[in-house]
Amino acid sequence: MNILTLKPGREKAVLRHHPWIFSGAIQSVSGQPNSGETVAIHDANGCFLAQAAYSPESQIRARVWNWDAETPINREFLKRRLQNAIQLREKWINRQHTTAYRLVHAESDGLPGLVVDRYGDVLVMQVTSAGAEVWREDILDLLEQLLSPQAIYERSDVTVRTLEGLQERTGLLRGSLLPQPMIITENSLSYQVDLVSGQKTGFYLDQRDNRALGREIAQGKSVLNCFAYTGGFTLAALAGGAESVLSIDSSADALEAARQNVALNGLPEDRCEWIVGDAFHELRTLRDRAAQFDLVILDPPKFAPTAAQAKKAARGYKDINLLGFKLLKPGGTLMTYSCSGGIDAGFFQKIVSDAALDAGVDAKILYHLSQAPDHPTNLAFPEGTYLKGLVVNIG
Ligand code: SAH
Repeated sequence: MNILTLKPGREKAVLRHHPWIFSGAIQSVSGQPNSGETVAIHDANGCFLAQAAYSPESQIRARVWNWDAETPINREFLKRRLQNAIQLREKWINRQHTTAYRLVHAESDGLPGLVVDRYGDVLVMQVTSAGAEVWREDILDLLEQLLSPQAIYERSDVTVRTLEGLQERTGLLRGSLLPQPMIITENSLSYQVDLVSGQKTGFYLDQRDNRALGREIAQGKSVLNCFAYTGGFTLAALAGGAESVLSIDSSADALEAARQNVALNGLPEDRCEWIVGDAFHELRTLRDRAAQFDLVILDPPKFAPTAAQAKKAARGYKDINLLGFKLLKPGGTLMTYSCSGGIDAGFFQKIVSDAALDAGVDAKILYHLSQAPDHPTNLAFPEGTYLKGLVVNIG
């Protein structure tokens, strides 16, 4: 096995079981390992630290598979990791009420760069690392063996793949896929999901528990659901007894699906209003009209995928949160989120706090929220927590 030797002092993160080895930490590489090949990581004194997948083109030059020289990285190893991930979901997801959830959450499940989402009998796979790419056929065989899915579909259409020297790719990998959209259930609500052309792998599974909270607090409220996609929070609010829900999204297709999802569940269509448009513009228009709501939900897309974009992204978050606060009735509630990896929970709270100050409201945090437990965070890998949410009440 080729050896990747770290510079003196750069072994600390690996010893703490952080799985990423950055190019700047590397002293030397023996041989010429191929993309995705397993290499041994040694400290500057030549002591073994870990086995990792080599990625010659990426700033993250290697991703650790394990910290154990005795256990080879092979199909058996991958099978154990997949089994562990599947068992965790079996314990923590109520599969009577929910048929769509994340089965494998990459680094946090010890499988760097591999995401597998389950939508009923169909699995959607996303591969974003050179290491997972090398093992893709084995992973597919194992998923078939362990879960007997009707189909496995690939949604590796994410630009981060190019950082690993991989092309974007989508398509049917195993089995046969029924015409899309298909119907999934989340907390007993049904949603149409298009696995082929929907956003992400089809649905924002990470917001499941937060939608459930939205349902709990929506009774009798006038709700603004901004960045509504296919109506995740819209349906939750209606099911919770909201008096009205105004949903905004820039995607006409997503809002059309949302409208159909309301009908699919027999929820009151006459309590819904829909606006296809840019949230930054539409929120201003609502403010200029002095519109007021009891509950405002802001769930924007990732403004800052990495820390480098954090400053610019912060302006975007501040802007929408300021408008969100201005659209609240006295005593109203803001549910606000950021899924940007480049902005941590502390920074997000600071942005929301600045927005409250500028809006002239006295605001209290009632809940600190994050992603649902099928998107766990390994404690050694804090980057796994990417979704931050706050529920804030104004005086
Ligand atoms: N809350 C949703 C997920 C939202 S994802 C759920 O629970 O399922 C973010 C959404 O923001 C996407 O649907 C995307 O189409 C929309 N979006 C992106 N940029 C936007 C903009 N500038 N204005 C309005 N919507 C936007």
